[in-house]
Amino acid sequence: MHSNASDGTYSPGDLVRMAIESQLAAISITDHDTVAGLEAAAEAAKGPQLELVPGIEFSAVVDAREVHLLGYFIAPEAGRLPETLAALADSRTQRARKIVDKLAEIGLPLGWERISEAHHENHVIGRPHIARALVDQGYVRSVEAAFTLLLDRGAPAYVPRYKLPSSTAVKLILEAGGLPVLAHPLAVTDLLPVLVEQGLVGLEVFYRGYTLGQISELLSLANRFKLLTTGGTDFHSEGRMDSVPMGSVYVPPDTVEKLRTRLSR
Ligand code: AMP
Ligand code: ZN
Repeated sequence: MHSNASDGTYSPGDLVRMAIESQLAAISITDHDTVAGLEAAAEAAKGPQLELVPGIEFSAVVDAREVHLLGYFIAPEAGRLPETLAALADSRTQRARKIVDKLAEIGLPLGWERISEAHHENHVIGRPHIARALVDQGYVRSVEAAFTLLLDRGAPAYVPRYKLPSSTAVKLILEAGGLPVLAHPLAVTDLLPVLVEQGLVGLEVFYRGYTLGQISELLSLANRFKLLTTGGTDFHSEGRMDSVPMGSVYVPPDTVEKLRTRLSR
């Protein structure tokens, strides 16, 4: 799930408390391009009720296609993670400024302070923060509308963002002691041979909206490529069109244990 360290709406501590309240056994916080929420999450998850798996999510490119890579159990300070995250945050900030410039050009000025207010200081900034600022300013009715009318690819204020090559992202996760897992993979399963070659170790099989047929297809792919299987809701907030409640995707209870076993090897 995502916290307000990236584009979720709840703080890391709130996510942990909500998960405990929902009687979940384990969660992972996998913010986009940042580990800024992990310390607060760990603090809130100190008790015995909930297992917290530290994580991250990278958008990456392979064969000119976009894939999302989860890094479970990464150590935030390890390997080249800190410097890479700093560089990614920097490029996100520059890109956000370009978006704000484009919006101003088409008559929708937003004070930069508004954007900084909308996202947590020192954490990564994304289009969702700009979308919320556009709603707050009264330019559009909803975040969805902000994306469709202004921010989506092909819309007037779209600016692409730099993405790591998948080989780099996989290596980064491995070097930080983590397990690289391909997130919500249905549209990119043909890329599995390349990604496995690059060092992928897991496949997200259980995901919001996936049918039993799709899940069993992914299970057999995981089997074929000898990949661990994971799952989750990709929870960001309530009220987003594609959001489902925290904990509403069934993930087999031995999942975390299997990840741990792989780590110890
Ligand atoms: P960015 O990383 O800045 O390109 O923003 C991508 C994020 O925006 C995704 O992770 C989603 O959380 C969110 N997003 C993308 N499209 C939409 C949409 N149509 N409505 C709401 N949120 C969206
Ligand atoms: Zn997100």
